Amino acid sequence: MLPTSNTLNRVSESATIKMAQLSRELAAKGVNVISLSLGEPDFNTPKHIKEAAKQAIDSGKYDSYSPISGYLDLKQAICKKLKRDNNLDYKPENIVVSTGAKQSLANVFISFLNEGDEVIIPAPFWVSYPEQVKLCNATCVIVPTSVDADFKMTAAQLENAITPKTKFLVYSSPSNPTGSVYTREEIEAFVKVLEKHPHVHVISDEIYEHINYAGKHVSIAEFPSMKDRTIVVNGQAKGYAMTGWRIGYIAAPAYIAKACDKLQGQITSGTNSVAQHATIAALLGDQAPTEVFRQAFQKRRYLVLGMLKDIPNVKCNIPTGAFYVFPDLSAYFGKSYEGEVIKDADDLCLFLLNVGHIAAVSGSGFGTPECVRFSYAASEENLKEAFTRLKNALAKLA
Ligand code: PMP
Ligand code: GLU
Repeated sequence: MLPTSNTLNRVSESATIKMAQLSRELAAKGVNVISLSLGEPDFNTPKHIKEAAKQAIDSGKYDSYSPISGYLDLKQAICKKLKRDNNLDYKPENIVVSTGAKQSLANVFISFLNEGDEVIIPAPFWVSYPEQVKLCNATCVIVPTSVDADFKMTAAQLENAITPKTKFLVYSSPSNPTGSVYTREEIEAFVKVLEKHPHVHVISDEIYEHINYAGKHVSIAEFPSMKDRTIVVNGQAKGYAMTGWRIGYIAAPAYIAKACDKLQGQITSGTNSVAQHATIAALLGDQAPTEVFRQAFQKRRYLVLGMLKDIPNVKCNIPTGAFYVFPDLSAYFGKSYEGEVIKDADDLCLFLLNVGHIAAVSGSGFGTPECVRFSYAASEENLKEAFTRLKNALAKLA
């Protein structure tokens, strides 16, 4: 058998995808599993976006390769969106459209990281950040945060983590997995620190921009001193219920966009042409469905937080964005079920899946092993049932 490469060996399997797979396997055996593992909206893509895709197919104009970094009219639409929603001025030369925000992130890391470079990642983090950094043989500098601090990194923590080797700070706000949203003041405090360290660049993952219950989204790129060293990452998956369409993009200084374009030209080429055309309709067309999704998620957030309160020994922050709750369930570690000890969050998730028939993702993949992530992008009916199952399953542990 062919041994896998050192590069691949440095990387762990995606915890979110692994759990979703385990839950599908159990469901295929006929078990009624409720999956709150994968973070994806349970809504259909809005109709006008699908119509645009159908028209693109029928026009015959989208059968060929697109330019590597995306069609010009799509990049113009992204620039309009960035001006309209974020008051950010970008030109098409600043934009690279990719196969999901996951590829957008990988493009930046692979294009700029060398062995020994450091990337500051506040924990909890989205599972793929450290793995992509490891892929590049660079070093992750993890900054732990706590549930009591709403899982937010402070400016002082950021400053302590910076060294001459720091190349990037990467974070998501609203955050996957905690739902925390950095306020303008908190981001401003980061900016003040970063102004003292001009070699540090920021990868600002804004994919949950539209799923925000705290107020208006703030991008660090809005601060003039940061614009030239920020890479804004965004995409269609969450706010437009387009996970399967695989459209993500960056807005960045032109030399960064050019580097990602070069890399993408050797790896995937331009992403799906029809999905690109449909994205123009998504970004410039009716934005009402996105607001409908946001309100539905907000309602479910109340429901889920209410049900969690009813379960003993659960410590949870109040998420103000995204569609996850990330409770600390460590009070249940060390307890047993039928002689089997639940040592950690990984064991607890397997127990919840196999005994409680509810799929969630262990906090270990997110850098916070006391917690478990539940996505509430599911129907209210399923959420009620899932959190009842959670309560009953946890009550079986002694
Ligand atoms: N960033 C974060 C924080 C995410 O949760 C996800 C998951 N979708 C991505 C990036 C990747 O998104 P995409 O589906 O566009 O690749
Ligand atoms: N981002 C989603 C999640 O965190 C989708 C899965 C993935 O791409 O990792 O569940």
